[in-house]
Amino acid sequence: MIFTALMGNPFVDAAVCAICEWLGIDDPEEIDQQYLQQLVAEVAPLMQSETGWKNLHSIYPNSVLVNPSFKNQNRVALLEDLCHDYLRQVEPLGSMGDCLGCGRRDSKKVRLKRQNIPLTGSGALLNFFPTFQEGVGYCAACALAVQFLPLGLVATSGRFLMMHANIWSAQRYWSRRCVEDLQQQYSRQEINGCYNPGYFKAKNALFFMAKEMISYEEENDLENLSLTIYDFSNYAQDPKLDLYQIPSKVFNFLRYCYQRQFQSDWLQVVRAGYLKVDWNKVESEDDYKNKFNLVFEKLLKQQSILGFFLNRRARNVRAGWQLLSCYLQEVRQMELTRIEAIQKIGDSIAETIRQSDRDRRLKQLERSKSYAECRNVLRFLIQDRIAQGQPEPLFTLTEYMEYLFPNTGEEFTNWRESRDLLLFHLYEQLHDWLIEKDYVSEADEMEEDFMEEE
Ligand SMILES: [Zn+2]
Repeated sequence: MIFTALMGNPFVDAAVCAICEWLGIDDPEEIDQQYLQQLVAEVAPLMQSETGWKNLHSIYPNSVLVNPSFKNQNRVALLEDLCHDYLRQVEPLGSMGDCLGCGRRDSKKVRLKRQNIPLTGSGALLNFFPTFQEGVGYCAACALAVQFLPLGLVATSGRFLMMHANIWSAQRYWSRRCVEDLQQQYSRQEINGCYNPGYFKAKNALFFMAKEMISYEEENDLENLSLTIYDFSNYAQDPKLDLYQIPSKVFNFLRYCYQRQFQSDWLQVVRAGYLKVDWNKVESEDDYKNKFNLVFEKLLKQQSILGFFLNRRARNVRAGWQLLSCYLQEVRQMELTRIEAIQKIGDSIAETIRQSDRDRRLKQLERSKSYAECRNVLRFLIQDRIAQGQPEPLFTLTEYMEYLFPNTGEEFTNWRESRDLLLFHLYEQLHDWLIEKDYVSEADEMEEDFMEEE
């Protein structure tokens, strides 16, 4: 056995997984010398800028693949020589060792630098490395694997996305998308290099890849997946690395969003997150897919995206209750009892507003800018209900304290989330009535008596 799944080093794990995809084998433990020979013979001729593989200087700067001093030599032969050299030294996986890739074989004093392993340093700056060595210690098997890392990378503009997950099949689905593209390039004999779905922004690209991975999912094997995306360039003058994490609760929610019945709702919510898009001029996804997206941004920062479920201008909702409820429970960790209590209060408010025959309280709620303002609107609504002769109170003290505005110790900073949840219900219940009463067209111009009853 030379490799096993998820040995812990992101570069090695991503590379081993992409190798499995290329070879069409399920278990990395099946990889043997013969498979590795096949890999070198098939992939080395593709992986060079002469065939059209661009940006290799940003993965392996100064390597035999890009260094101008090898310009007049056969780069494929040089890469094959390097790989065969590693192949001869490959040893079976042991129980321990000092290799930075697997930790289960010794590096045998092989010290690698950035032309072989991205982001390891030039070797000249000795204080980059343990005990002032000129590079990092990798065993021959791991070093060989990393030469094929580009098979599993997603290219963005000048940089690359690499994924590392805690679930092997997730690693597989990511690699599958990349390798499928490369194999198509191979069969067309039109090589462009690493899979490039046309994204310049890493965050947009990683949500695209999450969607692709979910489309491959079998038997719920992506449940509780948490993944880390490395957005890097190993370009010699300007190496860079940004890390993004999709927490498991967000990924679980995305799996839900991409179920057939929720896809179009989710698309509406995501579209609301793009900034500076003139939707009247959009002809295809390419017109907006690289714009900054607040929904993606907030999901990664673990901030609420509840507001994007609302279309305030149209006084309507962008997605159904089921999808929102899943978001609140899965991502915001909101208890179902709390969601249902707010729903019940929303129903009563809708009834009060309908009976009043005006949209004034709705406007006030929409425009409240602080907890105090929001609380005041609720006070007006309580007065309205008394005037209307409603026997039941709008909410009990317990409902107010525990469900509507629970004190989470953050000075009620989440009041907006409760308000938006109320608005969601109101739009759901009242949208048709608002249209009928012609209250929707005015929604943008309203600027009147907001706090007059204070
Ligand atoms: Zn190793």
